[in-house]
Amino acid sequence: MITVAFHNLGCKVNAYEADRMRKSLLDEGFLLVPFEERADVYIINTCTVTNIADRKTRQMIHRARGMNKDAIVVAAGCYVDIRGREQLLSDGTDVAVFNQDKTRIAEIIRHALWERDLFVKEEEPAASPVSHSDPYAHTRAWIKCQDGCNMFCSYCIIPHARGRIKSRRISDILEEARDLSEEGYRELVLTGIHLSSYGLDRPDEGESLLQLIRAAAGIDGIQRIRLGSLEPGIITEEFAGSLKEIPKLCPHFHLSLQSGCDTVLKRMNRRYTTEEYAESVAILRKFFSHPAITTDIIVGFPGESEEEFEKTVSFVEKIGFYETHIFKYSRRRGTAADRMEGQLPDSVKTKRSRVLLNLRERDKRNYMETIPKGERLELLLEEPVQIEGKEHLSGYTREYIRAAVPLLGYKSGDLVTGLPLKSSDDILLLTDIHPGCRS
Ligand code: SF4
Repeated sequence: MITVAFHNLGCKVNAYEADRMRKSLLDEGFLLVPFEERADVYIINTCTVTNIADRKTRQMIHRARGMNKDAIVVAAGCYVDIRGREQLLSDGTDVAVFNQDKTRIAEIIRHALWERDLFVKEEEPAASPVSHSDPYAHTRAWIKCQDGCNMFCSYCIIPHARGRIKSRRISDILEEARDLSEEGYRELVLTGIHLSSYGLDRPDEGESLLQLIRAAAGIDGIQRIRLGSLEPGIITEEFAGSLKEIPKLCPHFHLSLQSGCDTVLKRMNRRYTTEEYAESVAILRKFFSHPAITTDIIVGFPGESEEEFEKTVSFVEKIGFYETHIFKYSRRRGTAADRMEGQLPDSVKTKRSRVLLNLRERDKRNYMETIPKGERLELLLEEPVQIEGKEHLSGYTREYIRAAVPLLGYKSGDLVTGLPLKSSDDILLLTDIHPGCRS
């Protein structure tokens, strides 16, 4: 039996594609083993969104070679699409797979094995079910709804790696979602490289993101729909009002900001102003009682002056996010920002990210205060966790707050509601637990 070890890097779309590749390999009779073990084939599902991602990709390629010098080492995905097959082959990989070829991974591996006279077609795949070696994983599933991006933000390499937007048909997505519901998943995360562009590549077919959300919410067994990252521009009164009519939709909105300063947003080629962004947040707060607004911010963008950074800090304070993900600007060859004047030293980026990190902790606490006293939170139970020496089951609320309940006979995949009690180790403890979802 040919053994395959997998390592995934990067975004949710990559994680989704990694799951699909694992599934197709298992269906073809390969045996999946942990990356730490000796394997015949090592697959690294790469990412190239930052220098750090590149470094991790190369590290994993070298680690695979170190685990078994005779193994077939495969690099797949964005790092390959940007660096090119030749570069990868000179970096010590045996096979380089572009993003568009990931669906053919089993065939590509079989061919590489055949070239080495290693391939023997097994009769019955003896392997255990798909990648979910973790018995608690059958709760939330990501579904890739579209790929590619047409935005060309000046710092981003992704449109060069993944091409123009391509939306999957709602019927295909629903078919997959029904399978996931039968497998026991209770929450679907609709994701993509640029989810806000869903359906724009096939305007004559009239499949919009809102239609997709409504359709996915109609699937039996699925209790929650969560949305991947959105652009502020998609948040209109009409869109938010329609979302409010979908009870299964989680009031958690990840609206990428990147900078809170208009002159920086312009240099980033982002398509909104801080005023328009604030308007989008106000609309969500008009239709949802306490929506969890989360975001991404890049610090140290080329030419970002102290004044411009201060504007970002005061804008973040004004909005009051539930969670901010802070990234230090990372030069990407081939992007417009890489050719810009005023590249900043890492020390400045570190200092600025520390300022926002401190703000983040305060904002998170402030958000928890916005939850009305006595309001029951709904929790999708996932995995066991020890809190204050006692066994609990943890998971995420509809607002994406990590929370936990005492065991009390519940199991992973159960939906319960409870009242916030206190936080412990950054996990919100719930009390007065009732089974079932929040109606
Ligand atoms: S929207 Fe901008 S940051 Fe996001 S994937 Fe597209 S180009 Fe990159």
